[in-house]
Amino acid sequence: MKLNTLPSEFQKALPVLEKIKTAGYEAYFVGGSVRDVLLKRPIHDVDIATSSYPEETKKIFHRTVDIGIEHGTVLVLANGGEYEVTTFRTEDVYIDYRRPKTVSFVRSLDEDLKRRDFTVNAFALDETGQVIDKFGGLEDLEKKLLRAVGNPAERFNEDALRIMRGFRFAASLDFTIEPQTFLAMKEHAPLLEKISVERSFIEFDKLLTAPHWKKGLTAFMDSKAYDYLPDLAHSLEKLQSLKATIGDDYVFSTSEQAWAALLLALKIKQPKAFLKKWKTSTQFQQDVDWIVSIFRFRLTADMDKPKLYRYGKNLVCQAEELRQAQGLSVDFELINKLDADLTIHDKHEIVVNGGMLIKELGFAPGPQMGAVLKAVEEAIVLGSLANEREAIFEFIKENLLKQ
Ligand code: ATP
Ligand code: MG
Repeated sequence: MKLNTLPSEFQKALPVLEKIKTAGYEAYFVGGSVRDVLLKRPIHDVDIATSSYPEETKKIFHRTVDIGIEHGTVLVLANGGEYEVTTFRTEDVYIDYRRPKTVSFVRSLDEDLKRRDFTVNAFALDETGQVIDKFGGLEDLEKKLLRAVGNPAERFNEDALRIMRGFRFAASLDFTIEPQTFLAMKEHAPLLEKISVERSFIEFDKLLTAPHWKKGLTAFMDSKAYDYLPDLAHSLEKLQSLKATIGDDYVFSTSEQAWAALLLALKIKQPKAFLKKWKTSTQFQQDVDWIVSIFRFRLTADMDKPKLYRYGKNLVCQAEELRQAQGLSVDFELINKLDADLTIHDKHEIVVNGGMLIKELGFAPGPQMGAVLKAVEEAIVLGSLANEREAIFEFIKENLLKQ
């Protein structure tokens, strides 16, 4: 198959391809961007595969960055863009199911395409628009099928992360996993225990936030892959409830919201501890934890100013959207009104600080001063105290210093 015109993203990258070719090597566009063009989806990164070895690639371009030389990847800065240029490679035996023992650079495109995960991810595109399809990827695209390249069992045995990628692509592309491929995913799911949690998180996160997450999650559940991921063992029924309670067309607006929905379905009492096992950042743990808290609080009460102030409008709205996704009543108007009425959104906006209390009211630094500032903050949030210097001093003198 030949594309009549190359999309602009590829046009822009053409000089990079041409330059490598002029230097005497082969070069092609590869990976997800070629798949996405064929699916008429937006393109993210344009990746290039080449027969030139990294040191050779670096000699061809003025500006390059070593971003993964050991994997054969050089970042080329050219024509106002950044392109990952990766040497054709094969991956030798995987000894611990995590990382290839060695990466061998090769001069053959075919060898490179063979080690890719799915047929629809194993296209190459040349400068004329010719699509190179060695594994029936075009037919699979047509049928919306996700099929492993070559022998599925071997492929998942080499790198079990491909199992998670499979569920993820089913969810993002709205593809069905081809039966033999699915069977091998299911059989090799126990190997997921050997994959680094960070890598599994990335794929599971992409699955949850994808438009067709229910499709990916269904395949994930059917394979029992959850039994081999942190704190998800034996969670089939709870995962089913996640699918059942959230509306069919609902797409999570953020990762934090998606994980909050997951944790609510799993009835997790300590979200942070759960997310720590998934090795997420503390900021992520905090935000998800708060969305879960807001959602739980809202099951029995309306939103109020102190809560809105504490959690912030962004997370409150994410929790409210989750209610909406579950068909529960929502009140975005109230949230907007409360937010507009808040005179401060952060304690740093208070016009009086600890330094002033020490200097002007003779306070000593310590817990008592902290408590005073907290009381001031609360009164301002509730609207009973104006965020003005004189008013605050007055408030402190009248209410607190007397105690
Ligand atoms: P996305 O649109 O999400 O970036 P992608 O297909 O580009 O999807 P990447 O993770 O960016 O996925 O990987 C780029 C390409 O590298 C893939 O299309 C695939 O050909 C190959 N690839 C990536 N990870 C693996 C893997 N674990 N095993 C085999 N091939 C892989
Ligand atoms: Mg990509």
